[in-house]
Amino acid sequence: MQYYAAAEGWNRETIRQTQAVRLKNTVAQALRSPFYKEHLGKSGVSPADIRSCDDVRLLPFTTKDHLRNAYPDGLFAVPREEMVRFHASSGTTGAPTVICHTQDDLDTWADLMARCMHMVGMRKTDVFQNIAGYGLFTGGLGIHCGAERLGCLTIPAGVGNTRRQLMIIRDMGVTALHIIPSYALYLGNSLMDNGEDPRSLPPRIALIGAEPHTEEMRRRIEYLLGVKAYNSYGLSEMNGPGVAFECLAQNGLHVWEDAFIAEIVDPDSGENLPDGEIGELVMTTLTRRGMPVIRYRTRDLTRFLPGPCPCGRVHRRLERISGRVDDMFIVKGCNIYPMQVEQVLMSFPEVAENYMIILEHKDSMDHMRVQVEVRGEYFVEDMRVLTSLQKRIASRLRDEILMTPKVDLVEPNSLPRGEGKAKRVDDRRQEAP
Ligand code: AMP
Ligand code: ZN
Repeated sequence: MQYYAAAEGWNRETIRQTQAVRLKNTVAQALRSPFYKEHLGKSGVSPADIRSCDDVRLLPFTTKDHLRNAYPDGLFAVPREEMVRFHASSGTTGAPTVICHTQDDLDTWADLMARCMHMVGMRKTDVFQNIAGYGLFTGGLGIHCGAERLGCLTIPAGVGNTRRQLMIIRDMGVTALHIIPSYALYLGNSLMDNGEDPRSLPPRIALIGAEPHTEEMRRRIEYLLGVKAYNSYGLSEMNGPGVAFECLAQNGLHVWEDAFIAEIVDPDSGENLPDGEIGELVMTTLTRRGMPVIRYRTRDLTRFLPGPCPCGRVHRRLERISGRVDDMFIVKGCNIYPMQVEQVLMSFPEVAENYMIILEHKDSMDHMRVQVEVRGEYFVEDMRVLTSLQKRIASRLRDEILMTPKVDLVEPNSLPRGEGKAKRVDDRRQEAP
């Protein structure tokens, strides 16, 4: 097995010992920031208390609100002049959460990212197109620097302008892409609408991530674009992409445990859950000097997959993210996650890519409506076919979410589609009647 980094081949014992040393250093480093001086100070834990990686559990959690309240530089653990890069998370309300990096931090991040790309078969001979926003969003520069580190010819294509994206893909013989799942499907379908075959495009690898998506969605992307699609997970607070990534086995995402400690906790009590149970992912940086973050509550729901991975790496695997703690909505007493809806919708071949869940409050009751784009060829069918499809979708949704939503079938490309992460739920229940 050819690894990009020696750490990929470490055994459990080496990983655990390294984690213990790095955690201790991280706590010492974090104490240099005003925020952690106070936050860790209150908990009374000092670096000397960290003897094993499991001692991470002695430390207090860090939440998004902590980061917001410390805006802009309360978590800086080095003098400001040592910072060379500013990023912020994609949250749309309130103060952003800022993450700054030193040059060493950026180098480590680029190495982690290059490691992910190498793991799925990318090499320096690849031509890589990064179809992601290049602003504060870490999927732009984060992925970009990883591809350059690996030595690929790297194209910072950004988002939008589908025709230009396709022109570059063809003219430069792009072999690997980074693309948000919802945009991947849009790209493929807009070619099909033009009577062209997206499978004839040169790319053979797609890195997909940044937003939750189901296995059904991945398979669709693979089929439509004729690629192998690998799930890429990350969040700004932990750098961005390069935190956990699928290997060739496409069964769970290896968390790079030489750089992070991952835990799964009960979202309500904060107690650590036994391996294999679904809960909230909590992450700690182990190598970051500029801005260490300890036990960050990601709000993302997942679990550790049991057993060894056929690829041989023993860095533990996370199951694909099934949603966010705050994604869940309740209608008529049923707890529902958008990904449950997606899973049902994507199992219907008649259904196209885009859907929207609309929640409304009418006549003193909550109502759920699912708008579903149907493929062009089915839309021309007679009404009976569509009515039957509508009923079948509603009934399958009922089996999954335990209530029957109203299903509206709409024409392809008629639902709003942004350039960034897809918005799947429109909750209008708080709006004035
Ligand atoms: P940001 O820090 O703005 O890049 O957003 C990070 C968030 O995006 C994560 O906490 C997840 O909720 C979501 N996310 C990123 N990658 C994935 C992925 N592969 N699958 C599901 N959700 C993801
Ligand atoms: Zn593996």
